[in-house]
Amino acid sequence: MSNNTNHSFSFDTIATIESPYQEKFAIPRQPNLVSAAKGKVILIGDANNAELIRGIEEFSHLWLLFVFHGTKDQGWKPLVRPPRLGGNVKTGVLATRSTFRPNPIGMSVVKLDRVTTDNKQTILHISGLDLLNGTPIVDIKPYIPYSDAIIHANGGFAQAKPESNITVNFNIQAQADLAKHATLHTKNQQAECDLALLIEQVLKQDPRPAYKQGKVDDKVYAMSLYNLNIQWQFTSLTNIVVLSVTIIPSEMTGSDLENKIPSNKPLNSKANIT
Ligand code: SAM
Repeated sequence: MSNNTNHSFSFDTIATIESPYQEKFAIPRQPNLVSAAKGKVILIGDANNAELIRGIEEFSHLWLLFVFHGTKDQGWKPLVRPPRLGGNVKTGVLATRSTFRPNPIGMSVVKLDRVTTDNKQTILHISGLDLLNGTPIVDIKPYIPYSDAIIHANGGFAQAKPESNITVNFNIQAQADLAKHATLHTKNQQAECDLALLIEQVLKQDPRPAYKQGKVDDKVYAMSLYNLNIQWQFTSLTNIVVLSVTIIPSEMTGSDLENKIPSNKPLNSKANIT
């Protein structure tokens, strides 16, 4: 046997993700926590060929293997602080799903809703994703229940799905905004997207940093979904009110968005609540 083993590999992106999540803040920490999140896997290059996915519709779920492109340049450390443990317990990086890993590779199971090929562009329509818009996909595999679902497996510090006791309400302003934008949004982009449900499910996950969880906090936060900036605020430990839903100017996209739209940074706390 040869000792001349190559330890370095290079892969081409085979698809990119279209996702409602335009910035890391407010993306759920695992897939299938926000079922209303709909996305598209856009096959590219040589992989944009319907033959590669022939038969894939027989599977209800897919594994997506992807690159954490939004954080890959930030490096990694052997120990990380999982949010699930409140952010103050250090755990080995390979014992977590942290994005800051020696090789910045992620894996998510998503629901396959349908497949389309229009004008030679093949698209897998998915839901329940936890991926940033533009995430590069390096492989797609069918989810195989008999092998991939291990009923009595021990899930360590993440044994159970996080329960939420948070209720989400929309104030009068946000309801009016939503009515206005939902129609436009439906027409222009995502015929199937239920914006109100998406916002509710995302906020029920409490997107704030781990050290804020379970704490009273009257700050006004903002997050972006699609081209919308959504402002919201806790009114009690278990209630969030959505304050406004406004369109982000089209010139502010991608990395611009993370820099210019205040999101995980609180805004002032003087917004009106009805
Ligand atoms: N399910 C995947 C896994 O286990 O490998 C990802 C888990 S990771 C904890 C989920 C977080 O990754 C999301 O909340 C989001 O903040 C972040 N994320 C998603 N897509 C990303 C990307 N392309 N680049 C960097 N971070 C990303």
